[in-house]
Amino acid sequence: MLLALLTNFLLDLVYPKLCINCGKYGSFLCFNCYEKIDPCHTDLCFYCGRISKHGEICPLCKKKYKPYFRSVRWCGNYSGVLKEIIHHYKYDGIIELSEVLSQLAYNRIINCVNQKQPIIVPVPIHRSKEQMRGFNQSELIARKLSELCGNNGGLALVRIKNTATQVGLSKLQRASNVAGSIVCRDGELVRSKTVLLVDDVATTGATLNECAKVLRASGAKRVEAVVLARD
Ligand SMILES: [Zn+2]
Ligand SMILES: [Zn+2]
Repeated sequence: MLLALLTNFLLDLVYPKLCINCGKYGSFLCFNCYEKIDPCHTDLCFYCGRISKHGEICPLCKKKYKPYFRSVRWCGNYSGVLKEIIHHYKYDGIIELSEVLSQLAYNRIINCVNQKQPIIVPVPIHRSKEQMRGFNQSELIARKLSELCGNNGGLALVRIKNTATQVGLSKLQRASNVAGSIVCRDGELVRSKTVLLVDDVATTGATLNECAKVLRASGAKRVEAVVLARD
């Protein structure tokens, strides 16, 4: 106990915890900056932005886009403090920020997880990217989310192709860029189950849709998604 306290004290001296948003000493995100996060409280259709119960894709968009997922919920827009947190978490490797991010995701899905008992599955990244970054940002969130909900989960999906970045591509280009890049390696886990996909940022939903397609082909009954931010 004493040793742990001493270690923490010394670590704090060498690597002081500073708020990633305002620089205040003490934690990676101070209370004031946490309060500045503008969380999304209303469930909307991912494609058209109309109000939609449980974030389900509205009938019109379902017909138009034919997505493989039923719903998408996001914690907030990819801007301001939320963007700062995700950026520092993902690119600077401040994995402690996964605590606040997974709590935000949990708050977003709390009213649906109990009834559906979904299997929690992260969107995979390619092994080479994971080695470079040191971790898969979505996997860590999915793991913590699974702890918070008490739901089962696992790494059912694998990314077999290291696709080019989606930044700057159109909706159609994104879909074809990601096509065939993901496979399911654990059909047992998802068969006849509701799956909750977890990702950090969604733009057009092309990656989520590719994951959902693969999961459905592997027998998942339905696929829902929660993402930290909507870009
Ligand atoms: Zn702060
Ligand atoms: Zn819609």
